[in-house]
Amino acid sequence: MDLIVMKFGGSSVADAERIHRAARRAIQTQQQGHHVVMVVSAMGKTTDNLINLAKQITDNPSKRELDMLLTTGEQVSISLMAMAIQSAGQQAISLTGGQIGLITEPIHTKARIKSIERERIQRELEDGKIVIVAGFQGVDESGEIFTLGRGASDTTAVALAAVLEAKHCEIYTDVDGVYTTDPRIVPNARKIEHISYDEMLELASLGAKVMHSRAIEFGKKYNVDIHVRSSFTDNPGTWITHEVSQMEQIVVSGATLKRDLAQFVLPGLPNRTGVAASVFTHVAEHRVVVDDIIQTFDESGHASISFTVEHGDLAEGKLVVDEIKKQYDLKGIVCRDPVAKVSVVGVGMRSHTGVAETMFRALAEAKVNINAITTSEIKISCLIDPADAEKALRAVHDAFELDKPNNR
Ligand code: ADP
Ligand code: ASP
Ligand code: MG
Repeated sequence: MDLIVMKFGGSSVADAERIHRAARRAIQTQQQGHHVVMVVSAMGKTTDNLINLAKQITDNPSKRELDMLLTTGEQVSISLMAMAIQSAGQQAISLTGGQIGLITEPIHTKARIKSIERERIQRELEDGKIVIVAGFQGVDESGEIFTLGRGASDTTAVALAAVLEAKHCEIYTDVDGVYTTDPRIVPNARKIEHISYDEMLELASLGAKVMHSRAIEFGKKYNVDIHVRSSFTDNPGTWITHEVSQMEQIVVSGATLKRDLAQFVLPGLPNRTGVAASVFTHVAEHRVVVDDIIQTFDESGHASISFTVEHGDLAEGKLVVDEIKKQYDLKGIVCRDPVAKVSVVGVGMRSHTGVAETMFRALAEAKVNINAITTSEIKISCLIDPADAEKALRAVHDAFELDKPNNR
């Protein structure tokens, strides 16, 4: 019998009625002849509320205790889900990350998955149960509890689909698929039927929070087809798979916004071999995750390095920058907080010209100043003032006519 992994996000299990609805979907899938593994997030805004609660106790909660606190959210929703399935007369069991043997690296609040055992889940499935796994959590080899980063229930789901060799992974959420941009900000955003892992990975890393980027990495590496769809309708959603040939014809497939960034600028570094390596040794030692890096140099023998980090890493980033400041006796370090980033993504950029020109012109016409530019083969990003963020996103989305199915 084949297996389907069904992941339900926070809004899809926000109250008792929605939990029953998700339970019915899982039962239906099982009755169609599949084994079903569900991955469930914490109910509604539970994770945010738990973080706020911690902040009421202290400004600087220890990351270990935060992980201990946050994993309770998923423990509530998985047990309620199991009760909902049982109350409908079917067998189900809820399991935490530790109970299924999901082993992580020992890095609190942003651990990566090292391995997942199959035995427990398979045993329960063979018994005819629907298995409900807590998203976004695991344990290290010593049994300590870790979380995988905000939004990472998607990653739990796709990683499980990979390990269990699922037919595919279904991601149930509060939108009916992946759109050309966030439909809450740009109402004429269009649903995409099919998108490649590479494009979705860029969109997710650049702010399209509909999927967690590490989930897409797993999907790509282990060939898991991912179907992102609404938990409130039966409409088909968006398939995320390997690239198919006609995708190249679309130059830009989506636009994104990231607002939770801060930028450090370190001017006056010596322009010599090994300086960037030494700067980023400090960054790595503090386990700060860096977004974009830009280095420039001038004729006077100096280099300037700037890098962006997400807000969660801002306090740690400041400590890092202090160390670098002391080491190189730097003056005039700048921390811009917050900054926003607007990006366009598309595999077709590899073979088309004029994309940068269209993007920069759209921002100019919308009177949005660009503070920094970074590019890859399939994306262009501009750092901008957060006050301009939504205007910039709309301008770029319009300029590439992303609302039209045959945009250029
Ligand atoms: P869940 O709780 O189900 O994991 P999330 O809130 O993490 O759901 O993700 C869904 C949200 O992602 C949507 O409500 C939407 O506002 C936002 N979003 C951002 N970019 C996109 C996009 N390109 N397509 C669809 N939704 C997007
Ligand atoms: N509950 C966690 C969060 O809100 C994980 C998830 O929903 O994916 O970030
Ligand atoms: Mg999510």
